[in-house]
Amino acid sequence: MSDLEQLQHFIGGERVTPKSGEYFESTNPATRQPLYRAARGNAADIDRAVAAAKAAFEDSRWRDLSQTRRGHLLRRLGDLIGENAEELARMEVLDNGKLLREMRGQLASLPEYYYYYAGLADKIQGDVVPTSDRKVLNYTSREPLGVVGAITPWNSPLTLTTSKLAPALCVGNTVVIKPSEYTSRSALRLAELTVEAGFPAGAVNVVTGFGAEAGQALVDHPDLAKISFTGSTATGARIAAATASRFIGSTLELGGKSPNIVFDDADVANASMGVVAGIFAAAGQTCIAGSRVFAHRAVYDELLERVAERAKTIRIGDPLDDATELGPLAFADQRDKVAGYVDLGRSEGARVVTGGNACDGGGLGGYFYEPTVLVDVDNDMRVVREEIFGPVAAIMPFETEEEVIRLANDTEYGLAAGVWTTNLSRAHRMASRLEAGTVWVNTYRAMSPMSPRQGFKSSGVGIEHGTETIKEYTRLKSVWINTSEDPVADPFTMRS
Ligand code: NAD
Repeated sequence: MSDLEQLQHFIGGERVTPKSGEYFESTNPATRQPLYRAARGNAADIDRAVAAAKAAFEDSRWRDLSQTRRGHLLRRLGDLIGENAEELARMEVLDNGKLLREMRGQLASLPEYYYYYAGLADKIQGDVVPTSDRKVLNYTSREPLGVVGAITPWNSPLTLTTSKLAPALCVGNTVVIKPSEYTSRSALRLAELTVEAGFPAGAVNVVTGFGAEAGQALVDHPDLAKISFTGSTATGARIAAATASRFIGSTLELGGKSPNIVFDDADVANASMGVVAGIFAAAGQTCIAGSRVFAHRAVYDELLERVAERAKTIRIGDPLDDATELGPLAFADQRDKVAGYVDLGRSEGARVVTGGNACDGGGLGGYFYEPTVLVDVDNDMRVVREEIFGPVAAIMPFETEEEVIRLANDTEYGLAAGVWTTNLSRAHRMASRLEAGTVWVNTYRAMSPMSPRQGFKSSGVGIEHGTETIKEYTRLKSVWINTSEDPVADPFTMRS
């Protein structure tokens, strides 16, 4: 038994030991050093967490809280996240290897999500609906669903949890979070902050553990009203099937293989930085990674040279060091997966222009992989079709707008797309023709709580962020009130 710190579940406002008594180890991917042991959740722990969330949902202290006061709590939570930003940022860096500078940026904007939904909390209302009889009133109201299950991946735990938690609480649901088994810590701290902010015990619960154990048990729990999931398309498909058969809703934010398209009229210097940002930021471990780069033949050589040159000079190393530009991949299997895809690309005929090797991050010994640029690839190769989730760009030439639209859309995914052009008409044409839930023109990776987003095709179902996501966390009730005191004349022809 090691003397590593042991993290417990957070259920009903308290730290709770796992029913099984089992824990699993989490390591720092930059150094492979053990960090802590987290509670290994199972169906019994999920049962307890859902019961706590259900009790909190039914408790009048939460149910009858005014919408304005729910907003106050969200605002306070945003403040607390801001006050604890450095601690939360470092937690995430140690757990998944993200750069501290990236996490400081994320933490600077994270409170905004809570402020946005705080502002929205008392603006959610139904409508009065016209009827054919003025004595009959018909109105709609939006009600919370109940207990929402939030299942999240490891690549941006705090932000992706927030995309679910803030709107779910805004409308009066309670939540059980199952974070990724690779990044248990930040969700636990976030849940503690909800209690500090004044949310009642049980409003936010966290069960740590593995997908097949804790995650599956949460999805299958009969008292769950909805699942909001971010993760791989394969897991999303299983969750979609399980929730559909029980007629409960699911919001699914899934994988991507996004095109980043550079036209011959683009500012190529800018575009090449956009390509680098799209695929090498966060070591390519983002769902929106611009992993398929299409460059117009006239600028292909220049773009390739600029991207490859920048890739070669990317500073790989300690994610806590402000000078570092590329940290490790989040765990050993992820590094092996990326290496496997590059080898597969080579065997499919791709040429590695730069990168293509695992490395140790300047002696740190973690799961690093060089920024990699592949050419001599085409849209049919597996390395171009499948999500790698690592710092690997495939750069391909094209000749015409029609051709690149066809190539860009020839994928099972539809999460995001980038377009680099100075032609305004082309920008709008491309935005309209690309089959992606988010299209960026002359920028990449922009995101805000105000902007709704949705994955098309195998990239997801349902909307996150903005006012649109409120529908995902509420149900609509239609209420009919007969204000007349006249006796019912004929029960067989009653209507409004
Ligand atoms: P994953 O699907 O392996 O795991 C995601 C979460 O689901 C984890 O918490 C895991 O424990 C849980 N899980 C696994 N099997 C489960 C099951 N049978 N039942 C219930 N829960 C289960 O994904 P990952 O490797 O953690 O994350 C990477 C993936 O996430 C990539 O495909 C990436 O594109 C996607 N992603 C999408 C978005 C988006 O907004 N569209 C954002 C970030 C990441």
